[in-house]
Amino acid sequence: MTIVVKVGGAAGNSFDRVVSDLAPRADYALVHGGSAEVDRLGLALGRPSEYYTSPSGVVSRRSTPAHVEVLTLAMAGRIQTDLVARLGAAGVRAVGLSGVDGRLLLAKRKRGARAVVDGRVMLLADDLSGTIERVGVDLLRLLLGSGFVPVVGPPAVTEEGEIVNVDADRAAAAVAGALHAEALVLLTNVPGLLARPDDLGSTIPRVARDEIDSVLPIAAGRMKKKLLAARDALDAGVARVVLAPSNVDRPVDAALRGRGTVVS
Ligand code: ADP
Repeated sequence: MTIVVKVGGAAGNSFDRVVSDLAPRADYALVHGGSAEVDRLGLALGRPSEYYTSPSGVVSRRSTPAHVEVLTLAMAGRIQTDLVARLGAAGVRAVGLSGVDGRLLLAKRKRGARAVVDGRVMLLADDLSGTIERVGVDLLRLLLGSGFVPVVGPPAVTEEGEIVNVDADRAAAAVAGALHAEALVLLTNVPGLLARPDDLGSTIPRVARDEIDSVLPIAAGRMKKKLLAARDALDAGVARVVLAPSNVDRPVDAALRGRGTVVS
């Protein structure tokens, strides 16, 4: 059974537990995020992350050319290399791939991102973010078929060769759909989708595909992206998406046994 596991990069995630749980498995791809490391490296390089507010009130990180440079260093350089080394130490022959390698994550640039600045709506002309249109699944199959584990993360690339930021949860959904994965496990720093975001005991155990719209309002910030990614994956034919914690004993196994929030 092919599964796709995505581990978040926000503080409170445990790479160690994910790696030791994955090591004895076969037939999986690992997708990673890394927002905390992107922020840390950006600060260290004197290029702190900038944010903007869309006309509908959603706050997002700006994907300026300078930011995409930092993102590439953090994601493809630091985080991915670290995960590949950890898997290697656990006996796994892992191969790190950004979406640029082999054009694995082929994206279309988002045009027309708009920000509200001083009460006026402005077009963000220098926005380098994209939406994934195609996954180079033949490359993933080539690796998996030869006993290698793909470790995949942003950035993505456009047909014209522009390096663009894409959301890691949406990337994981695209990879799971392309591989016809049986399950997509989105591991994060909270126990699942929480009915009350400040109450860690309020995990909603199950959400049906048709209920996603109705639970979107309780998911603030980045949790909203995970629900949208879950919907993408279900629509691409993945039977089950689990939003579950990474910082527990055997996090992948626990998620597959129903810990967290199961979206199906
Ligand atoms: P990761 O890097 O692990 O992918 P994110 O920071 O992107 O994690 O997203 C998870 C975060 O979403 C949580 O840490 C939490 O603060 C936030 N969140 C907002 N609303 C909810 C909710 N209803 N249930 C769970 N988490 C929520």
